[in-house]
This record gives sequence, structure tokens and C-alpha cells, in this order.
Amino acid sequence: MSKPKVAIFDFACCEGCQLQIVNMEEEILDLISIVEPVEWREAMSEKGEYDIAIIEGSITRMEDEERIKEIRNNAKILIALGACAVIGGVNKIKNNFDLDDVKKCVYGESANMPHLDTYMTKAVGEVVKVDFVVPGCPINIKEFAYIIRCLALGKTPEIPTHSVCVECKLKENVCRFEYNEICLGPITRAGCGAVCPTGESWCYGCRGFVDNPNVNAAKDIMEQYGKTIEDLKERMLLFNSKQEPTNV
Ligand code: SF4
Ligand code: SF4
Ligand code: SF4
Repeated sequence: MSKPKVAIFDFACCEGCQLQIVNMEEEILDLISIVEPVEWREAMSEKGEYDIAIIEGSITRMEDEERIKEIRNNAKILIALGACAVIGGVNKIKNNFDLDDVKKCVYGESANMPHLDTYMTKAVGEVVKVDFVVPGCPINIKEFAYIIRCLALGKTPEIPTHSVCVECKLKENVCRFEYNEICLGPITRAGCGAVCPTGESWCYGCRGFVDNPNVNAAKDIMEQYGKTIEDLKERMLLFNSKQEPTNV
């Protein structure tokens, strides 16, 4: 059986998720034994036809839309890699402001130069069909390797549908709400091992919301600890600005 051909493409992002893949070291050799990289700007100069397209970054320009649609047309399977691609992530913070103000703030007097043109950030799935996601900022490389292995073997990968709180409780962490903090664990997709609460910080929600967030439970927790829904929404701005679905 021939190995599936894989190409990695980047859009608006810091390329930190690709860096995670580069840093896999020995494990990357295992993956290369089951898939064939044919295009990956960060690691090789060759280009070729592909079966699986892995997309890092958000869609922030009209020409990005044309490019991602072409990649989608050429790929049998499309994977969104990392928070920027999966949910828009930090790139969506700008969607809370007037776009002209954002451009002036970033580019000053050069804001109207054509090559700096931009529009409101979209996640990859808002432009083309996404088959699988690798959430997180950055991604969890074990989860990435699991998804690639499944696809190479013709299996359907499954990522957690429960919340970060489940992993956090299993680690017997003291809840960050007990420290008068606001944590997005109750509504955020597990799979990171609750790394932030375990490291004594709240969850910022970088893996996006669980499929069916228990909004009422989240409201109850906020009320129990004397916080408001506005406090919760403010905490969501970093990774989940203008994010759907949510009804808080
Ligand atoms: S998800 Fe985070 S680490 Fe990955 S490309 Fe975006 S900003 Fe960088
Ligand atoms: S709210 Fe945060 S700190 Fe508390 S249990 Fe959930 S993930 Fe852990
Ligand atoms: S705990 Fe939350 S912010 Fe931290 S890695 Fe996990 S999902 Fe992301």
C-alpha cells in the first residue's frame, strides 16, 4: 500500500504549531514511515501532489480564500492545525474592533497600502470544509501524531468531547476558582491534560469549546464564585472572540 502524501500549508499565524511538529524529533521518523511529506515550506523545498493537506493559520485576506479553496480542491482530506486554523484563535481578537482602526493601530500611515490589506479573521472551517482538527495553541504533538496515524491506517481519529475540567479533576488540582480566578475549563475541549491549571494558571480556552458546552453549569459556577457572565466573556476574548457556537 502506498503511503498517503501529506502537504503542510500556513496562513496567518506564528508557525508555532509547525514548530511543534519539527520538534517531534524521533517521533517524526515514525510518522514519515507511514506518510510521505511532499510539501512543507518550513522544512523542505520540494512541492508535489498530496492526499492530506494540513492547514496552519487563519484566513485573513481575500486571496487567502482563493488559495485555501484551491488546496481543498486538491486534497482528499483537509486537517486544520492549531487554534488559529481551528477557531481563528488570537487572530480573531481584531474582530472585536473596527477594521480600519485595527489597521491604523498596526500599520500606522502605511495602513492603506495594498499589500497590507486584510479583512475580519475567519477560521479555516468558515471558508472550506474541514475534515479533522488538531486543536490547541500550540497543538499537542501526541494528539497530532495520533490523528496522522489513524488517517494513514484508514481509521477515523476521535478527539475528546468532554471538558478540560475532567482532566483537571483527574489530576486532583485545586480549582482556579478557589483562587478567585476565572477558568474556561468547564466549556473548553479536553486533550491537553489540563496543562494550564496543573501549572497553576487558569484555562484560556485555546482548544476551543466542547461540542455541547454546559452553559448552565458554567453560569452556576460563575454565580457560585461571585463572577458575572461578562467576566466569562472577557476571558474568552483571547482565543474565542466572536466564536460560535456559544449562547452564554
Ligand atoms: S495556534 Fe498558537 S502556536 Fe499555533 S500557529 Fe496559532 S498562535 Fe501559533
Ligand atoms: S474550572 Fe479550571 S481549575 Fe477548575 S476544575 Fe475546571 S479546569 Fe480545573
Ligand atoms: S488548559 Fe486550556 S488554555 Fe491550557 S492548553 Fe489546555 S485548553 Fe489550552
